[in-house]
Amino acid sequence: MKIPYKTYLTEEQLPKQWLNIRAFMKEKPAAMIVPSTGKEAGFDDLTPVFCDELVRQELDNTTPYIDIPKEILEYYKMYRPSPLVRAYQLEKALGTPAKIYYKFEGNNTSGSHKLNSAAAQVYYAKQQGLTSLTTETGAGQWGTALSMACAFFEVDLDVYMVKVSYEQKPYRKAVMQTYGADVIPSPSDSTQVGRAILAEHPGTGGSLGCAISEAVEKAVQTDKCRYVLGSVLNQVVLHQSVIGLETKTAMDMLGEYPDLVIGCAGGGSNLGGLVSAYMKDKLTGEGDAHFVAIEPASCPSLTRGKFAYDFCDTGRITPLAKMYTLGSGFMPAPNHAGGLRYHGMSPVLSTLYDGGFMEARSVEQTAVFEAATLFAKYETILPAPESAHAIRVAIDEALACKESGEEKTILFGLTGTGYFDMKAYMSYHNGEMRDYVPTDAELEEGFASLPNVEALGQSAAV
Ligand SMILES: *Cc1c(COP(=O)(O)O)cnc(C)c1O
Repeated sequence: MKIPYKTYLTEEQLPKQWLNIRAFMKEKPAAMIVPSTGKEAGFDDLTPVFCDELVRQELDNTTPYIDIPKEILEYYKMYRPSPLVRAYQLEKALGTPAKIYYKFEGNNTSGSHKLNSAAAQVYYAKQQGLTSLTTETGAGQWGTALSMACAFFEVDLDVYMVKVSYEQKPYRKAVMQTYGADVIPSPSDSTQVGRAILAEHPGTGGSLGCAISEAVEKAVQTDKCRYVLGSVLNQVVLHQSVIGLETKTAMDMLGEYPDLVIGCAGGGSNLGGLVSAYMKDKLTGEGDAHFVAIEPASCPSLTRGKFAYDFCDTGRITPLAKMYTLGSGFMPAPNHAGGLRYHGMSPVLSTLYDGGFMEARSVEQTAVFEAATLFAKYETILPAPESAHAIRVAIDEALACKESGEEKTILFGLTGTGYFDMKAYMSYHNGEMRDYVPTDAELEEGFASLPNVEALGQSAAV
């Protein structure tokens, strides 16, 4: 069979259920902890912040498949299925015997996979009768995806956008405003935590963790409003399983099974989704793909972080999650341009990594942009810098196959397009881009911000 460049499923072949990988894991991700009591977070602890149905999904470690509501499926049909592409031209340019496939999630206005979870989260908020949502955005992809879903389902939205991005990416902001969102540069003086951070670090460009703190504060203080998050959480990994389910159906049609599955990892949602169906195979003994998470060397949560309970935000107001983390106080170097700058990692992926089901590698940003430029030339798509982390390692693996003569089947996630990242591309072209690898001493500063979980309940009892 001659494998086509692009394989699309039909609408009928779209997954009708999400795959909950936790149901197949022997070792489950640890429960979240409420910082004020030191106790496990249950339904009632989480619903003041998150939508009810999303909390149910967050806590559900046992249901293997969860129905995708009809309304969300209809929304998905407007931009899914996404294509599975055979990278013939890249293979040829590299002279590799390896077969390279990528699943391209950038074919929608938000430019990334984030719309898969945004549509689901906004739908459930609407069902619950909520009238507004808050969130944070860093580079702007999540804010854009959520703005699109909020416009469609008619829910108001406040986006706290990391200040440096707000200033560097005016067009992202304009897209969100086009979809009716209110975009606020963070830290702002509109919240207590924002004012405190501004007082301590005047002139700061902000961080994702800080924007999360502001968005959570606003949500809990506003009637019929909740907070939504675009990565890290179990529910987001669940929604992103559409990526992996579609991929497996398409690969099955081609008679292919990947030896290697490679994805970039910021908070871990696209990778958790991409690996879902093949990881299920691995956990049940039905398959044996090798999984590789790629992160930036300047923000190496899996490769150099600690597996510990930590806050999900810099303001330290969210519940604690057990994950690989650099400490909520960690901030990547200011010259880091390539995204994936979150201090922690999805508890699902962290647990799989800790259990030895996945490998992690870190790459430096100039090598990432070199790979991005090569990929753009031969495959015609301008990749997001985040996605280019996966491209870098896919290329390295394909070149290793050239050396060894192995004909591996390599699958990677091309999570999005990079049209709004041209400042980063420009700094690469100008030769201004520098690699930065934090020293152990610098990482220790971040680890010093890790909470002492045993002491939490006690201080609350005083
Ligand atoms: C947000 C984003 C990522 C990283 O987020 P994950 O939750 O780790 O998937 C990767 N690529 C693109 C294009 C993104 O927008």
